[in-house]
Amino acid sequence: MDFKEFITIVPDFPKEGIRFKDITTLMQNGEAYKKAIDEMAAFAKDKEIDVVVGPEARGFVVGCPISYALEIGFVPVRKAGKLPREVIKVEYGLEYGKDTLTIHKDSIKPGQRVLIADDLLATGGTIEATIKMVEELGGIVAGIVFMIELTYLDGRERLGKYDVFTLTQYS
Ligand code: IMP
Repeated sequence: MDFKEFITIVPDFPKEGIRFKDITTLMQNGEAYKKAIDEMAAFAKDKEIDVVVGPEARGFVVGCPISYALEIGFVPVRKAGKLPREVIKVEYGLEYGKDTLTIHKDSIKPGQRVLIADDLLATGGTIEATIKMVEELGGIVAGIVFMIELTYLDGRERLGKYDVFTLTQYS
């Protein structure tokens, strides 16, 4: 299946010059959404994954159905102040300024094999921050999946030592 047929490119969103990849049109199509999730779950199938981790909000849209397909749990990564129990945090750089991501401290046990899932790999900063927290908790990042890779931003190089799978690429 050509997933690009279902992804909409929105010019100048959220600001001028950005060609935003909108996955909501893919999600609206039951067959395309299911096939996308099935392909990502198939990549993870033989990796003995214990838990899927995804950053809010689109990482939930990708990660939760994968965890359901693999019959394993899902752990949310959220912005500061959203998770109700004890968390660990990591600050990461954005284009302008900084942001903080958090994960529940008891969500990953040392030695657990983790699949990280998100909608889109751009510079890799969000996922690098997510990896940092998973590894701080003793988790092993056994794979990383994205629906979309923007190859010109070289995020894959930043995630060089990890096993990365992307469904579609834009160059
Ligand atoms: P990175 O941290 O630079 O890799 O940026 C990836 C994050 O930015 C992902 O969590 C995406 O949800 C978001 N993002 C960046 N560009 C786009 C886009 O064109 N469409 C949808 N999300 C985007």
